[in-house]
Amino acid sequence: MTWMLIAVVLGSQPTSDWDPAELVPVAVPQASAQAMEYYQSGVWIWAGLQAWRLLVPAAILFTGFSGRIRDVSRRVGRNTFGTIAVYAALYLGLMFVINLPIDYMLGFVRPHSYGLSSQTPGRWLAQELKSLGVSVIGGVFLLWIPYRLLATAPRRWWLYLGLLTLPFALFMATIMPIWIDPLFNDFAPMKDKALEAQILALADRAGIAEGRVFEVDKSRDTKTVNAYVTGLFGSKRIVLWDTLLANHNEKEILAVMGHEMGHYVLNHVAWGVSLSTLGSLVLLFLVNRSARTIIGRFGGRFGFDRLSDVASVPLLILLIAGFNLAALPIQAAISRTMEHEADRFSLEITRSNHSAASAFAKMQRENLSNPRPARFWVLLRASHPPLGDRIDFCNSYHPWTDGLPGRYPSHFAPIPTEK
Ligand SMILES: [Zn+2]
Repeated sequence: MTWMLIAVVLGSQPTSDWDPAELVPVAVPQASAQAMEYYQSGVWIWAGLQAWRLLVPAAILFTGFSGRIRDVSRRVGRNTFGTIAVYAALYLGLMFVINLPIDYMLGFVRPHSYGLSSQTPGRWLAQELKSLGVSVIGGVFLLWIPYRLLATAPRRWWLYLGLLTLPFALFMATIMPIWIDPLFNDFAPMKDKALEAQILALADRAGIAEGRVFEVDKSRDTKTVNAYVTGLFGSKRIVLWDTLLANHNEKEILAVMGHEMGHYVLNHVAWGVSLSTLGSLVLLFLVNRSARTIIGRFGGRFGFDRLSDVASVPLLILLIAGFNLAALPIQAAISRTMEHEADRFSLEITRSNHSAASAFAKMQRENLSNPRPARFWVLLRASHPPLGDRIDFCNSYHPWTDGLPGRYPSHFAPIPTEK
């Protein structure tokens, strides 16, 4: 510390390409009482939602209601494809109605009561209806694929479907930012051209081509802040929420961008697609095994006796949700690893430790986060390391001060020497 202060006082030129002011640590802010209340109620809401997502399909299944939806679908849809399409629309419509009050409480009332939302009721409803539209169109056009496989390859359907996950996930990841996301928000080039030039200079160092940074009008929906990387191939991009731009200074925004560039350069979207294909193979194998056993035991109550009957949709959904929940700690651990590496990348490319840490401290306050959640909840479900850990890492990780290269020097050009 002392020599740093001396260097600042004397105004001496740092001999290396990092700013001593960036080594000043940032204290992890104390979470406010409101943030802790928001966090704690959120944990119970999360647990309740997990149970709800299992209970609803189980109820539809064990009451034999799914069989009745299938009967109606058969009458309306006539042939196999028509039946599956009508079933998909009816099931998704039913789920929408059942979940609407919960979605309203959790997606509108709760964030408003904590001052986290800027959404009007009309816009909330419009967004809900658009999501319903997207899921119904997707369901009507895609549900026939697993059922076609179930009918033609009853023993191997899970393998073929798991393998199909790869092209499907690649396709979805590619079209998401250009066809789906713009239905909900406006994506445009950045408005602040001076800041954009700084971001593009950083992107250039990371080998990210121009035209890959977008600003999204999230301030219409929320007061929370974020940024993310999305897309694949030609649609790969970094998206900044305009709320982040409003509340953070230039160096903090660049530190956040360094993190997103880490995701981009380290191909985390492609990794996610590959790992989810592997995961879906395991998942569908288990679903196939257990579904057969369950139908054998309870088929009479369900109103169907074969998995290839479209009335098995809630059984498949129940099993997928159950196995997914069981695998959540693994998925969360993989995600936390990627997030941690993106943090490391940001520190290495910007060497802006203090700015990165203060960006996290601001995020903690603005998003009402708990910086030190209990280890159990982190291991169970956290997609990101706790903000306290991330701030600690910013305060302590600077191998360049010891003349060490860090982990990712080959992924970006060095900081240009000033003056
Ligand atoms: Zn991230």
